[in-house]
Amino acid sequence: MPREEPDIVVVGAGIIGLAVARELLARRPDRTVTVLEREEVTGFHQTGHNSGVLHAGIYYTPGSLKARLCTEGAPELLAYCQEHGIPARQDGKLIVATDESEIPRLDELERRGRANGVPDLKRLRPEELAEIEPHVRGVDALHSPATAVVDFQAVAKQFAKDVEAAGGEVVTGCAVEGADLRANRLCVRHARGESRARFAIFCAGGWSDRLAVAAGGDPDPRIVPFRGAWLRLKPERRDLVRALVYPVPDPALPFLGVHFTRGTDDEVLIGPTALLAGARDAYRLGRLVPRDLRDTLAWAGTYRMARRWWRTGLSELRHALSAKALVNDGARYIPELTPDDVLPGPAGVRAQALGRDGSLIDDFVVSETERALHVRNAPSPAATSSLALARLIADRVE
Ligand SMILES: Cc1cc2nc3c(=O)[nH]c(=O)nc-3n(C[C@H](O)[C@H](O)[C@H](O)COP(=O)(O)OP(=O)(O)OC[C@H]3O[C@@H](n4cnc5c(N)ncnc54)[C@H](O)[C@@H]3O)c2cc1C
Repeated sequence: MPREEPDIVVVGAGIIGLAVARELLARRPDRTVTVLEREEVTGFHQTGHNSGVLHAGIYYTPGSLKARLCTEGAPELLAYCQEHGIPARQDGKLIVATDESEIPRLDELERRGRANGVPDLKRLRPEELAEIEPHVRGVDALHSPATAVVDFQAVAKQFAKDVEAAGGEVVTGCAVEGADLRANRLCVRHARGESRARFAIFCAGGWSDRLAVAAGGDPDPRIVPFRGAWLRLKPERRDLVRALVYPVPDPALPFLGVHFTRGTDDEVLIGPTALLAGARDAYRLGRLVPRDLRDTLAWAGTYRMARRWWRTGLSELRHALSAKALVNDGARYIPELTPDDVLPGPAGVRAQALGRDGSLIDDFVVSETERALHVRNAPSPAATSSLALARLIADRVE
C-alpha cells in the first residue's frame, strides 16, 4: 500500500518521474516521496520503447529549454551510466546530406550545434564520411563524436533503486485516477485508495493531458499518439552500419526522420516511422482504444495539423505499411541496403502534444495547477536530458 500522507506524490515511473523523485530526495532526504505507476514495471512506455540515443544537442534552437537541458544532461547521464555499469557507448553520429539541396539545412544544424556548445562537431567531405561509415553515401555530412547510445529503461530502473535507497517508495500496478484539493493537501485517488500529499508532480507521458485536466488544468495541449515502428538489420548485415546515421531533418517537424541506430545490444534499427495511431499504447499496428481515438478526433488541432501535414502523413503511411518503402528511403544513405537485409523490429508510441491551433509542440512544457506540476510535453531528447530536467522541475517544486 502506498503511504497515505507522503509529502510528495510523483505520478508515472518513466525516466522523468523517477529522475524527479530521485532529485527531490537528494535535496531533502527527510521528505517522504511516493511514486505511483500504473504498469507492473518501471520505464515501460516511451522510456522502454525509443531509439536509445543520448543526443548531444545539435538540433535544438539555441537558447531553448531543449538545447540547454540536453547539452547539460547528456554528459551527466553518460557519466551516471558509467558509474552504475549501465550499458552505454559513445560511438558518435553522422547526419548525412544526400543531395545539394539539403546543405543549407545541414549548415543550419552545424550553426545550432556550435551555438549550443556541442563538443567536437566536424563537417566531413564524402571521402572522409566513408572513413567513418564505409557503406554510407552522401554529398556532405556533420559528425558528432559525442553522441552515444544507452539503455534508457535500465537507467530508469537504476533511478528507481536510488529512490528506494533514499527512503522513497515506487509502487507499481497502481493507476492514478485523479486528484482533488482537500484542506491543505492534494488528494491523489488511485487503484489502492488515496494518498494525501502536500504536492504532486504528474509525469504521465501519453496520459499527461487527461490527468492535468482531471486536476483542473487547461485542456490545451492534447496528447495525440504517433506510432513509431522500426525494422532491424539481419545479424549478418549489421556491418552496413557502425554507429548512428541520420538524415537532415525537416526543421518544421518535431521528428528526426528515418535513421539507423546501432544500440547497446548491437542490434541495428531502421526507423522509426511516425504514424498517427488509434491508441496511446499502439505497440501493435491497428490497435484501437475507443476513448483514445475519440480524444484525437474530437480535438480541433488534429484537423488543423492534418490540413497542414497531409503530404507528410501520406508518406509516413507508406513507410508504416510497406517495409520496402522504408528500406528504399534508407537506401538513399546506404545504397547496398535491400528489402532482403531487414526483419520486422519493435515499435514505440510518441506522446505528441498538439495545440488547439494544430501546432506540434516541440519544446518541453511544464504547467501548474494548485499544489501540482504537470509535465505536459517531454518529447525527445527528454530521456537524454532527464537529470537536468529533473533539477528544473525540482526548482519549481521548491
Ligand atoms: C519512437 C521514439 C523514439 C525516441 N527516441 C529517443 C532518443 O533516442 N533519445 C531521447 O532522449 N529520447 C527519445 N525519445 C523520447 C523519450 O523516450 C521520452 O522523452 C521519455 O521517455 C519520456 O519519459 P516520460 O517518463 O515522460 O514518459 P514515459 O516513459 O511514457 O512514462 C510515463 C509513465 O507514466 C505512467 N502513467 C501514465 N498514466 C498513469 C496513471 N494514470 N497512473 C500512474 N501512472 C501512469 C505510464 O505507465 C508510464 O510509465 C523517443 C521517443 C519515442 C516514442
